[in-house]
Amino acid sequence: IVEARGIHKHFGHLHVLRGVDLVVAERELVFVIGPSGSGKSTLLRCLNRLEEPSAGIITVDGIDMLDRRTDINAARQRIGMVFQSFNLYPHMTALGNVALALRKVQGKPRAEAAERARAALARVDLGDRADHYPGQLSGGQQQRVAIARAIALEPRVMLFDEPTSALDPELVGGVLQAMRELRKDGMTMVVVSHEMAFAKAAADRVVFIADGLIVEQGPPAAIFGSPQHERTRAFIGQIA
Ligand code: ATP
Ligand code: MG
Repeated sequence: IVEARGIHKHFGHLHVLRGVDLVVAERELVFVIGPSGSGKSTLLRCLNRLEEPSAGIITVDGIDMLDRRTDINAARQRIGMVFQSFNLYPHMTALGNVALALRKVQGKPRAEAAERARAALARVDLGDRADHYPGQLSGGQQQRVAIARAIALEPRVMLFDEPTSALDPELVGGVLQAMRELRKDGMTMVVVSHEMAFAKAAADRVVFIADGLIVEQGPPAAIFGSPQHERTRAFIGQIA
């Protein structure tokens, strides 16, 4: 459903992605790991065109993301993204935050937006927090609102960039649980995270990136249990 081939990205003289091929199948959960600065965030940002790749091809759900004729705003709606920071509007309730996206991005009428927002909040187990303001929610709950905001738009694939790394340890579980539920529902997901236990339990495939290249990839048991490359071994050794 996601096909990225030969992705290069330069920032000035910095060659951050150096020919990355990433193909993600429908319903697959791909987990991306790698050292800081290896290009993980840049890769995700290229997938939904928050960054313009210097070279390569990207199709999502059959749509050529790099074609000038592609309506990029429409195409982006097929790709949900959740970052480390939740970026909720503090003066709007959880329901308001989710509904706003539906109204602004998809032009849904107020009542329909509210109804769909409620359903999305229920999916992340926040059905009873719809009328709370972000300030009245824990960081983990706020992140789940951000996930609800993304899934309310009914994307075909969800990208997560370190969704739990800003959270206190006791709040991480709820967010991972919400992600597990999404996966159970058949959502296609690409996750950049340091939550290795989650990767071992939930990932179909682990991709190890270093210096802008995929060094090694495979099932979690293989990557964590018997990595083939020295770089991977060193990285796994560090984080284990
Ligand atoms: P981390 O684990 O720390 O989040 P990462 O693998 O996500 O790291 P990226 O954020 O993709 O790494 O960054 C890769 C490299 O590109 C880094 O050297 C970073 O400084 C550089 N970089 C990222 N965004 C920009 C930008 N907008 N302009 C210039 N350089 C950038
Ligand atoms: Mg990053």
